[in-house]
Amino acid sequence: MESVTKTSYAEVAVPLHVFQTFTYRLTPEQSDQAEVGARLVVPLGRSLVTSYIVALLDELPVNLAEVDLKDAHDLVDPEPVCSPEILQLARWVADYYACPLGEVIKAALPPGMSPKRRGAARFIKPKLRRFVRLRPAENSAEHKLTDAQRRVISTLASSGPMLLQSLLKTANVSASTVSSLQKKARVEIYDEAVRRDPLAEGLGISTEEHTLTAAQLSVLAQIEEQMNSGAYSAFLLHGVTGSGKTEIYMRAMNKALSLGRSAMMLVPEIALTPVFSRRLRARFGDQVAIFHSSLQKGERFDEWTRVRNGEARVVIGTRSAVFAPVQNLGLLVVDEEHESSYRQQESPYYNARDVAIVRAQKESATVVLGSATPSLESFHNARKGKYQLVALPQRIGARPMADAKIVDMRTVFARHGKPRVFSDELLEAIRETRERGEQSIILLNRRGYSSFILCRSCGETIQCPNCDVTLTYHRSERVIVCHYCNHREAVPRVCPACGKKYIYYVGEGTEQLEEMLRLLFPALRVARIDRDTTARRKVFEQSLADFSAGRIDTLVGTQMLAKGHDFPNVTLVGVVSVDAGLALPDFRSAERTFQLITQVAGRAGRGDRPGRVLIQTYHPYHYALRHACAQDYEGFYEEELRYRQNHSYPPFVALGSLLVHGPDLGRVRNDSLELRKQLDRVNQERKCRILGPAPAPLARLKGEHRFQILIKAGSRKHLREVADAGLRAAAESGINMRSVNLEIDPVSIM
Ligand code: ADP
Ligand code: ZN
Repeated sequence: MESVTKTSYAEVAVPLHVFQTFTYRLTPEQSDQAEVGARLVVPLGRSLVTSYIVALLDELPVNLAEVDLKDAHDLVDPEPVCSPEILQLARWVADYYACPLGEVIKAALPPGMSPKRRGAARFIKPKLRRFVRLRPAENSAEHKLTDAQRRVISTLASSGPMLLQSLLKTANVSASTVSSLQKKARVEIYDEAVRRDPLAEGLGISTEEHTLTAAQLSVLAQIEEQMNSGAYSAFLLHGVTGSGKTEIYMRAMNKALSLGRSAMMLVPEIALTPVFSRRLRARFGDQVAIFHSSLQKGERFDEWTRVRNGEARVVIGTRSAVFAPVQNLGLLVVDEEHESSYRQQESPYYNARDVAIVRAQKESATVVLGSATPSLESFHNARKGKYQLVALPQRIGARPMADAKIVDMRTVFARHGKPRVFSDELLEAIRETRERGEQSIILLNRRGYSSFILCRSCGETIQCPNCDVTLTYHRSERVIVCHYCNHREAVPRVCPACGKKYIYYVGEGTEQLEEMLRLLFPALRVARIDRDTTARRKVFEQSLADFSAGRIDTLVGTQMLAKGHDFPNVTLVGVVSVDAGLALPDFRSAERTFQLITQVAGRAGRGDRPGRVLIQTYHPYHYALRHACAQDYEGFYEEELRYRQNHSYPPFVALGSLLVHGPDLGRVRNDSLELRKQLDRVNQERKCRILGPAPAPLARLKGEHRFQILIKAGSRKHLREVADAGLRAAAESGINMRSVNLEIDPVSIM
């Protein structure tokens, strides 16, 4: 019989901001080897791109003509890099968040696997090291060996295969000795992949297992019962800070392993991964793989490979770890589920918490969302029965929650006749705390020395040339900096507008607080933690270690300080100001402030002595502050829910935000008006409420003007119908779609 070579075709997604897929012709050889999920280098426009095969076709779809097709270039992988499960998850993400499939797949893979430029040589690969092992000896030849050669043989005989480098040292021989033995076929030199282990340093944490409290046991029993069923289940674990949530996560992960399944834990911040990873590594050993963006590419590739091979069955990581190629996933934990860092702030916009829920559904796993301050949406879902609510209302060891008090800065102002950075109450508390040999944390969510520079002669403030924000003064570096685009300028001596010398620095940042405390209390040992001091991972870990060991009395910093850390000797937390956060023009500003204060208050009094929290504000009666002080989550929830209902915000509407951006203000404004017109046209039945266009609260960012349109819909389906149809119509009317971002469920509308 004559064999027929069937040419087949590959449909691919490209890692670019384009929504369509492309089809290429494969050679017979490629057709034999290609699998869905593998990478394929293809010509696109004038360049070559690394794409992902999303479907293989035996026949050409009717809408395509053979003559229009191009040949694929190289098939990169003999087997898929993206498993069918991950591909399916990526499809869900692309569909739900209305983003390109190729961008999602790229985000799901370790970095470095989709190089932009040609040349497979740049792909990340396993790290190979040179090893040496003995070969079976042919007798009789032994007496012909030199002494050095004999040492090599006996070293290998006693210790087995060795790294070439260590063999040379141990046997005290040169490389030529080993290669002469290779020529005699007595030893074999070969390359083998070695693992780049991100946790290789700094282990040595205690593995103590606590006896669970009654409350912990009850929560764990409910989770385990669902895990035993092997079906999808979802929990919201609402536990105050220090209530022992982490212990529950670890037991549940252990349970997953004992059921023969694997487990994943997502944490919001890179800064927190070392803390947790070491705890997990102590508990689960080499089965732990770690995923986060400050690992080197090689490390990430190796960890990813270990997970894919099934060597590592416990994954911990930040946002993108939700796509880790874990097989037979039994449990997903999302710690601090309310954190906005689970949301990716660029395309593909996805929220890893929500992807975790969907992944659990698809893989019949259990998902546990944990927080001391659950997001309003999650608590609402729990109330509606979508998640099972489990609670740990008390701290371990019945330690009382810290005593929190509001300091009314209006009366402080009245007393002194001028604004003060520190109230007397807070200064007194810092002094007392220090005298008792205890520690304090002082929080201000603004880094730098002064938040802006004002000319008192003409009123000019110095703005970033690229963004609609004032530049922040950083004294130690002697520059003024934009916190959005990192634009830097020398500090002006005279006002750039009027040329006069009346320049004043207004609004204090963490750098100034640190200096003020040093002046006020010369004996106080102060350190600062914010993005300026912690650009390097080592410095950050060192400051935390010093604080932990009692070498520092007072830690000043931004919200980086608020999370996760457990310092038993901290009995005072001072919040210098929350007013800027409360005033942000965003529907989540109250929720965020409530969360921040509750979290930072949770840092006080974790040891044997009770903690105290002082919050300075000019808005002492704000409900977010009152409820945070009372540690009353449900009280806050009820009040915030009413606000959301009255103003039609999530969870009462499905929210979409359309941002039109570009360098030319007139064009951005016109495009956004045109977009609005098209949205109205497809919204004739008034399924959605459409607001805008209006300049976004950050009206200019990184040199681009920004106009915003909000869509509020009764259901996600209506939201998508209107948004999709509106965008399609706008594209047809000539608007450049690259200047329009659609965000589904935005976490903020700044
Ligand atoms: P959370 O994650 O809720 O903030 P953690 O799990 O970190 O709380 O627990 C707070 C502290 O209590 C930690 O130091 C932890 O080691 C300890 N701890 C947790 N569970 C127990 C227990 N059952 N008995 C004693 N100590 C515990
Ligand atoms: Zn800027």
